Amino acid sequence: MLVVMQHNATPEDIQRVVQTIEEMGYQARPMPGAQRTAVGLVGNDGRVDESRIAGLPGVKEIIHVTQPYKQVSREWKTENTVVQLPGGLSIGGTEIVVIAGPCSVESEAQILETARLVRQAGASILRGGAFKPRSSPYSFQGLGVKGLKLLAKAREETGLLIVTEAMDPEGVDLVAEYADIIQIGARNMQNFSLLKRAGKAGKPVLLKRGLAATITELLLSAEYLLAAGNHDVILCERGIRGFDSSTRNVFDVAAISVVHELSHLPIIADPSHATGRRDKVIPMARAAVAAGADGIMVEVHPAPDRALSDGAQSLYPEQFAELMKEIRVIAEAIHRRVADPIGSAAQV
Ligand code: PEP
Ligand code: MN
Repeated sequence: MLVVMQHNATPEDIQRVVQTIEEMGYQARPMPGAQRTAVGLVGNDGRVDESRIAGLPGVKEIIHVTQPYKQVSREWKTENTVVQLPGGLSIGGTEIVVIAGPCSVESEAQILETARLVRQAGASILRGGAFKPRSSPYSFQGLGVKGLKLLAKAREETGLLIVTEAMDPEGVDLVAEYADIIQIGARNMQNFSLLKRAGKAGKPVLLKRGLAATITELLLSAEYLLAAGNHDVILCERGIRGFDSSTRNVFDVAAISVVHELSHLPIIADPSHATGRRDKVIPMARAAVAAGADGIMVEVHPAPDRALSDGAQSLYPEQFAELMKEIRVIAEAIHRRVADPIGSAAQV
């Protein structure tokens, strides 16, 4: 339930609403907005009797949130969430953020070279897995802490922010020490203990859609993060399982627009895991930007044929540089622009 205050409601009016909600045994979440303040009520299991609140001074209206997810919904918050990152970068505003890098951190030379190449082409965030959720236990599992340290070194040398995956609740704090954004992978979208822990980590979270998750399920998983106190959540469409094996997954481009309708959270797209094929990554990255994605995440490797994971879907650096030029044009056509990397001449 959401209590919308009149635009001229006083701080005392707002405090009275908060106090009443707490006296009723629920938690209150005041949300000052550009137009007016609203006070969210959480902790209820079913419809709440609004009669004690409706008559309080300064209360304009009471909205019963109809979706199963609450704080994530547009009913709860109409304005877009803009996730603020270090260095003035943000996700969810007019700028489209490009995240690029290898599937896995493999060595110092590989991650530093990739970081330099993608930075030069205009990416602002470096991706790379240190802890890898592989379908086979015999596949490369990642460099672990060493991978995190190499990512930090790449950030130091290039100014790129870093995003990397935390695979289990015990690993969240370690990843949070190094990463600017904690990634929760598709296979873990409904690992609720991981979500609860990530909700307390104090860093923004990139939550990837599960392989067979509905959009409602994705938003309910995001709700776990917000319910734990973390409002800096970025969603990611990365393809879902279909019956056609032409591409690795089926890229649900419409999900971008559906999520924007249902939620105030930003959503980016990962055309690499969505398609699994280098030649399909480029057109789907363009489509994602055209569909309104707040960013894209693309796998790039200096030598994809020698990659330890996902080489077939990793772009050659020249292909990535070309893609950057193309999406700048697409962004402009829809009145947006591609964010410049922190510290670049265009940004300062
Ligand atoms: C990744 O982005 O590194 C990854 C493993 O992707 P997903 O969780 O979407 O499969
Ligand atoms: Mn990968």
